[in-house]
Parts: sequence; C-alpha cells; structure tokens
Amino acid sequence: MRYISAPWRADYVCRALPAKGGCVFCEAVKSRDDRASAVLYRGRRHIVLLNRYPYTPGHVMIAPRRHVADFVEAGAGERAELADLFQAALRVLGRAYAPHGFNAGMNIGASAGAGVAGHYHLHVVPRWTGDSNFMPLIGATKVFIEDLDQSYRKLRPLFDEEKRRRERAGRPRRRAAAPSR
Ligand SMILES: [Zn+2]
Repeated sequence: MRYISAPWRADYVCRALPAKGGCVFCEAVKSRDDRASAVLYRGRRHIVLLNRYPYTPGHVMIAPRRHVADFVEAGAGERAELADLFQAALRVLGRAYAPHGFNAGMNIGASAGAGVAGHYHLHVVPRWTGDSNFMPLIGATKVFIEDLDQSYRKLRPLFDEEKRRRERAGRPRRRAAAPSR
C-alpha cells in the first residue's frame, strides 16, 4: 500500500476551495469565517486547518500566514511556531481521536506531490492500526468528506484550549508587591 509511509501524497488540498486563481491557504488566512474555511487555530505566523480531502479523520495542515513556497525561507519565529503548533496538533488529535500513531510531513514542490506548491504546509495525519486496509475505500466517498463538520466541531474547542494555554503562558506575571500609586 503506497500511502502507508506518506499518506499526504494524496494532496488534494488544491481542490479545497473553488478555484478563483487564488491560493487556498492565503484565502483561509484572509477569511473571516473560520468554520467555512475550516480554520481551527490562528497563530501569529501560522494557521491550522482541516484538510477537506482527509486521508483519515482529523487530517490537519499547518501553513504560514505569508505565501511562501519553501520552508528554507521560514524565519526563526516561523520555525519556532511551526514546531509549537505541530506539538499542539499532536496533543489535540491525540485527545480527540486516540489514534495509534501519526504521520507528519511536507511536500515541497509540485514534483514532490504538493497540491499547492506555492505555499508550504505541514500535514499531520492520525493513523490507526489497519487503517490502510479500509481508508482508501472510504476515503473517496462523500460520506467521509461530509464528516468534516463533525471533525471541526470536535477539534475547534480543543484548539481553543491550546490558544488559552498559550495566552496564559505569555501573560506577564503579576508583581507580588505592586506599588499602590
Ligand atoms: Zn498562499
């Protein structure tokens, strides 16, 4: 089964939104409707969104806010936030789905299979023992695609929790003996 080691090769994200000549990730960054654009989390430098053509339930992608093709171009802040959100995604998906494992990876360039070659994105895919036996069968059905709304309702509150966790961590500590004037 060729998808076992790299399920994100089925990178149909290019069909995620009606083609208007734009980039689906840039459209999602600009969108004011998180639910419609399947955005689960908005960080300072990246967004986390559901793949509309998931390999398994909970297949998310992490993409930078700026339109940049190659991860080599990512700055220090982007590299740090990507790692942080990757960890958040693993934690959230672990809580939501209790998968047996994960695949994570990036297709850089059209030749490597990137559906949207101009805008890098990290795929995070929950895996279950034996899923490759049935996922290719149901992965192409409409039933599986319609399940996205359910995935969104399940994952959004957990990513909101991650956001609150980060806000608490980033808040300066209250001074113990603040002057009264
Ligand atoms: Zn873009």
